Amino acid sequence: MEKIDILRLMRDNIRSLDPYSTARDEYQGELGILLDANESPYGEGLNRYPSTALRSELLGRLEAIKGIPSGALFLGNGSDECIDLCYRVFCRPGMDNAVMISPSYGMYKVCADVNDIEARQVLLGEDFSIQTDDLLAASDSNSRLLFICSPNNPTANSFPESQIRTLLENFPGMVVLDEAYADFSARGSLKKLLAEYPNLIILQTLSKAWGMAGLRLGIALADPQVVTIFNRVRYPYNIGTDTLRLALDLLPAADLKAKVAEILKERGRMREALSKLPCLSEILPSDANFFLVRTASPRKLYDFLLARGIIVRDRSKSPLCGPALRITVGTPEENDRLIKAITEYDSVQSTIC
Ligand SMILES: *Cc1c(COP(=O)(O)O)cnc(C)c1O
Repeated sequence: MEKIDILRLMRDNIRSLDPYSTARDEYQGELGILLDANESPYGEGLNRYPSTALRSELLGRLEAIKGIPSGALFLGNGSDECIDLCYRVFCRPGMDNAVMISPSYGMYKVCADVNDIEARQVLLGEDFSIQTDDLLAASDSNSRLLFICSPNNPTANSFPESQIRTLLENFPGMVVLDEAYADFSARGSLKKLLAEYPNLIILQTLSKAWGMAGLRLGIALADPQVVTIFNRVRYPYNIGTDTLRLALDLLPAADLKAKVAEILKERGRMREALSKLPCLSEILPSDANFFLVRTASPRKLYDFLLARGIIVRDRSKSPLCGPALRITVGTPEENDRLIKAITEYDSVQSTIC
């Protein structure tokens, strides 16, 4: 296939957008007296709009951590903003469509609905494998986005590089690969594919392995032309000063490798323990920091755990999942409490029987 022209995939009005600009961005020297933005002159710094310098500092830090060339990383208010921007930049409301795997992360469909874009959900196989032929068959000349999540939420498996490549080479629009859980995956990130495929957008986040879900920082890695357009379309101050500062403070100390290693160790220990519990008929393989487990009466087990202060997620209504709960790997103590509670549930069940 010919190299795809990503600029042509963008909506005309977005490509020619004249973005909001601030006087402060136009001024290059040392900032002096700020009478340009109608802020209050009083305060401890938060009286000012977030500075471009602070934003650039965090961008630079993240580009270095991820080994991404300058200009190829976009910083959003969570991955959720990045997902929404994909729709707003590439999809004409009421005309275009987005293809996505199912079951997967709910925001792909919600954002499609919000933007009046048809969401074409294509089932995975029974074994949660990706169906490249079905995904391509569901696409047409108005398909602008293809959402793939790997490792996938809620199925916890990841997809082979060869199949992602097949999709990148044959899908007529942008392929959005959500790697929210890639830090936990044996396969790691496929960011090296960015150099080969201009139609690839990779989503990452500081919400999971980095432990900063409360900050709301999401990342899109993409061709610099896409990053430029995302920056024109986003709200001018989508990330607040306190968030930028906290992220800069927390990143060096986050000790990602050690935390991920601890969670993976617990994942292994939990798998062993959970697989011995009679009420759980299946613990599906996990390449992420959560398990999908099958149990005869998920709602009953869910309520039992809830009554003991343990909250898990009922995924029984998700296609292909069957009667299933999704359980996040917590601290060793939290995991022990979960295992103890399910053991209790099992003993109550056997008394009833
Ligand atoms: C948790 C999660 C995210 C993270 O979203 P943020 O808005 O960055 O917190 C993204 N994608 C998937 C599939 C997730 O499960």
